[in-house]
Amino acid sequence: MVTQAQIDLLRHQEIPQQKLLINGKFKQGEADNLAIISPIDGAVLTHIANATANDVDEAVMAARKSYESGIWAKQSPAARKKILFRIAELIETQALELAVLGVRDNGTEIGMALRAEPGSAAGTFRYYAEALDKINGEVTPTDEAFLGMVLREPLGVVGAIVPWNFPLMIAAWKIAPALAMGNSVVLKPSEQASLSVLKLGEICLQAGLPEGVLNIVTGKGSVVGNAMAHHHDIDAIGFTGSGRVGASLMQAAAQSNLKRLFLELGGKSPNIIFADTKDLIQAAKVSANGIFRNSGEVCVAGSRLLVEESIAEEFTSELIKIAKNFKIGDPLDVTNDIGAVSNQQQLISDIEFVGNATQEGANLLQGGKRILQETGGFYMQPTIFTDVTAEMTIFKNEVFGPILTITPFKDEAHALTLANDSIFGLASAVWTENLSRAHRMIRHIKAGIVYVNTYGGADNSVPMAAAKQSGNGIDKSLHALTTYSQLKTAWIKLS
Ligand code: NAD
Repeated sequence: MVTQAQIDLLRHQEIPQQKLLINGKFKQGEADNLAIISPIDGAVLTHIANATANDVDEAVMAARKSYESGIWAKQSPAARKKILFRIAELIETQALELAVLGVRDNGTEIGMALRAEPGSAAGTFRYYAEALDKINGEVTPTDEAFLGMVLREPLGVVGAIVPWNFPLMIAAWKIAPALAMGNSVVLKPSEQASLSVLKLGEICLQAGLPEGVLNIVTGKGSVVGNAMAHHHDIDAIGFTGSGRVGASLMQAAAQSNLKRLFLELGGKSPNIIFADTKDLIQAAKVSANGIFRNSGEVCVAGSRLLVEESIAEEFTSELIKIAKNFKIGDPLDVTNDIGAVSNQQQLISDIEFVGNATQEGANLLQGGKRILQETGGFYMQPTIFTDVTAEMTIFKNEVFGPILTITPFKDEAHALTLANDSIFGLASAVWTENLSRAHRMIRHIKAGIVYVNTYGGADNSVPMAAAKQSGNGIDKSLHALTTYSQLKTAWIKLS
């Protein structure tokens, strides 16, 4: 159990100017630096390298050289496994440092950060270390005169571009399976949350990952990410972020080398509460956590609550009670439930959504304001709108903030129509005691994930599946090993 005193020892530690990790060395970038503002108090935390297209080139060359040399790809699976296990161990021994560093950078409440960041990243490295030598090739049933073999090979140089919410966890979802399959990697964290990812780079070197196998380039998405997207020597990119950037990656892939793209994008996930839910108080509590924790900056956040008409009033007042009771503030204070909005731009966008929703006729029942402005940090009240119709922008667009919309439904068919009335298809939830109904909803909701009688959570064994404009990627689970590898067939004529 982590104590406040342990956190306080780390919270003011000076963070040196950050560098790029290229070919096993931390080095200055070619251009200027970017100031990193902490969402806790709005102060400058440190600076990161603002890499250029030339820096990206150098990182890709290092990755290519390491890949072609076989220093990693041709190591035995047992040897690769040992290093991935060692990375997991080192993440665990430095878990608190990693979590505090990440929170100072992106404002996630420390309890959640500890579980979801180092906790989850270590588990992910361990999962793929265990799995990597359980993936077999195939010998196919053929005519006796031939032998048909199917081999699974690495892709080569894999790019990974990750967002600012849960940077360690999401980076691990990509680089652990990519490394497990023998690829070399160029990783680009978000300019809003690079610090813990750079620390992970240090850990990988400490664990014995050969130089050049993992390279980390920080800086602006429009420069670094864009250069990766157009690069002719990156074979595939695993991306998590917005649909807007996902679309630009598709264009860039088409204009460059047709690199493979694995996209995990945004969502506007419906959380459907039927009147026969066994414990409505518990459902309200879990639903509130499912949208308000981490200030709503969770891709699978249950941002569209659909509730059966007969219980809409009762359920809404329970949610308001819970929302009012959340303790919001310094994310490094263990007594707070919700920390800071990750950055000023996001806070401005959240507040704009509140204004637009009100103008469009939604009824603001709770929250809607910036708070704790005197700290200099970026904090926002959990916000609830009722009278939200499917035509409203707040029903359609991803906010990525602590804003919940409530829309009542008449019956199962109506709930399903509302749930599927979205360009997104990331997560969803159904609360009911009726098993047959739960199964019908699982089949008919167009989303990658359907939670039943819960919201959020899952472990490494289940993929982060997505439908419609929420992407095509398959982070997590054994499927990710397929994602980061390619098939080769051999057709052998026997004499
Ligand atoms: P974003 O798309 O703005 O940025 C994501 C990454 O792309 C960052 O590293 C950024 O620097 C980079 N980038 C920006 N412009 C680029 C460009 N032109 N070319 C290449 N790279 C570029 O997203 P964000 O604001 O960091 O994250 C929030 C979004 O991520 C939300 O939409 C959220 O739903 C989504 N998300 C999805 C999942 C999932 O698993 N589906 C998980 C977390 C977040």
